[in-house]
Amino acid sequence: MGKTIIAGPCSVESREQLREVTEALVRLRGVSMIRAGVWKPRTRPGGFEGLGEPALGWMQELAKEYNAVYCCEVARPEHVALCQRYGIRAVWLGARTTGNPFMVEELCHALQGSSMAVLVKNPTSPDVRLWLGAIERLQAAGIDDITAVHRGFSMYHSSGYRNAPLWEVALELRRERPEVPILCDPSHMGGRADMVEPIALAAMQLDYNGLMVEVHPHPETAWSDREQQLTPAALGQLLEALRRLPTTVSGEALPALMALRGHIDDLDHELLTLLARRMELSREIADIKREKGLTIYQSKRWEAVMQDRLQLAADLGLDEDFTKELFEKIHAESVRVQMES
Ligand code: PEP
Ligand code: MN
Repeated sequence: MGKTIIAGPCSVESREQLREVTEALVRLRGVSMIRAGVWKPRTRPGGFEGLGEPALGWMQELAKEYNAVYCCEVARPEHVALCQRYGIRAVWLGARTTGNPFMVEELCHALQGSSMAVLVKNPTSPDVRLWLGAIERLQAAGIDDITAVHRGFSMYHSSGYRNAPLWEVALELRRERPEVPILCDPSHMGGRADMVEPIALAAMQLDYNGLMVEVHPHPETAWSDREQQLTPAALGQLLEALRRLPTTVSGEALPALMALRGHIDDLDHELLTLLARRMELSREIADIKREKGLTIYQSKRWEAVMQDRLQLAADLGLDEDFTKELFEKIHAESVRVQMES
């Protein structure tokens, strides 16, 4: 399968709970690391805030007994120091931490010189620069085992998700930092156990490197994030579904795929040639405008162009927002070219 699977409870609740889930996850095979929150960032006060240091002691003990690797969330330099004291080799920065450069900077200080693996969840707001910034700060601190985790974003309208996946934001991160593997956290995206599998499968279609999934031995009794945690058996089924996914395009599909890709390459070349011609015409127009003393930007003409293109796009079945953005870009470039000429 070749995917990294991190699974485990939202929070450590007792030595027995941790033992039970560890035993089940080790038995499943394919789980490379066990997640378990020890300090829980709560959006509002009053919720379970984690057991802290005693939980780390159980993790250290069970890591030896089951030959398991644990990871937990850190938000303060003291958390990092405690993890190191208890032999925890991997930590994650939660969404509320990634979004705060002061906190990230302090954690970088604490992590400097260690060989800990660090997972970086996306910030709660869809600003890829905050996410990139946290990764870059860690890289600058000499941490080289860094993995990004897309856990969805807080949106005013989250259309059925707890935290809406914004695949395009994560794609931007991958474009900027192709060396950083990325996992999907379908649990915090969906907020419901039945949403985990479809989201995880969507992430696989986008070639994510793996998953971070919340798994609890008895989800109905969980002290935090009760609705979204899977049972170990349900994780087993999800892993089965992942194993059934085709890894390479097989047999007959291949020539058809190659032919279609060839067509797309041809069309892209045509598109660029047409855009170059369009900019050439803009330069000629600029000459006339200059001669006749007309301004480069002509609002009436631009409005008419946009109306016409949107109408045609609608007739052709193209998305309105996409068309609008595309022509705003083209127009901006045309204005730039005219200013320059
Ligand atoms: C968690 O993983 O349990 C958690 C609190 O995550 P996030 O920072 O993504 O909300
Ligand atoms: Mn959680």
